[in-house]
Amino acid sequence: MKTALHPYNDRKEVTVQAYTAEFGPKLDSHGRHRERPNARCPGCLEPLIIRGNDRPLQDQIFSHNRNENPPSCPLRNMADHRYAFLQPVPADTQRGRLLRADFFAHWQAHYGHMRRLLNGYMDVDDFIALIREADADRLWSRNQIEEWEITYIFLAWKEWPPVRNNRDEILRAEWLRFWFDSRVRTFEDIWIRTEGDPRIIKATYQNPARARIPSLQHLEDTRILYIDRNFLQANYRPAVDYVVTKLHQAFPNEVEAP
Ligand SMILES: [Zn+2]
Repeated sequence: MKTALHPYNDRKEVTVQAYTAEFGPKLDSHGRHRERPNARCPGCLEPLIIRGNDRPLQDQIFSHNRNENPPSCPLRNMADHRYAFLQPVPADTQRGRLLRADFFAHWQAHYGHMRRLLNGYMDVDDFIALIREADADRLWSRNQIEEWEITYIFLAWKEWPPVRNNRDEILRAEWLRFWFDSRVRTFEDIWIRTEGDPRIIKATYQNPARARIPSLQHLEDTRILYIDRNFLQANYRPAVDYVVTKLHQAFPNEVEAP
């Protein structure tokens, strides 16, 4: 991967170049191995090694060490990290009904924030499908969920393939995926195992083209996505009429026509 967690600072990402600038190159001026702290994997916090030491700095990458019993890590084994709720669908609660109403009152802020994190393009049908899935799963009534968490759960809930417009032109060429760090194996773990402070990793893949779904060989970059709990108060670009109309058609009681 091109970026990793800084050795000591959980709020800082480093490239191999930035890491080398801070901790020095692999060999000191006498050609001896330098003692350097390891950068860490944003997914599992395991120390990472640098691969491609014989290549130019900008081509070097961080990589997990070979390990007989590797820790579960979404960046190592993606198949282990498709999220679902393990607990059965709960009863509808009053709190859940209010949360759903709040979500619809601010749906444009959620939509705008998601679209921004998806590099500017989200198919409105995907957004609608996620809301329907949230309804079927009663996401609103689970785990004392907070409104700002919904957007991040939505992002991690599905794959984000390249987006085309209705003339079949490519709007976003990359395939995107969002993971929680390896403490999170099911959605319930977000609240149980991270004390409400999960890291989210955004992975960018080349369009897998004929391969149906991207695999590690298509991975281009991973970035830590620092959670913004205040995006609901921030400005967003209003959705265009076409999107509002679609939302209104899907949820006529909740969303007014444009
Ligand atoms: Zn890892």
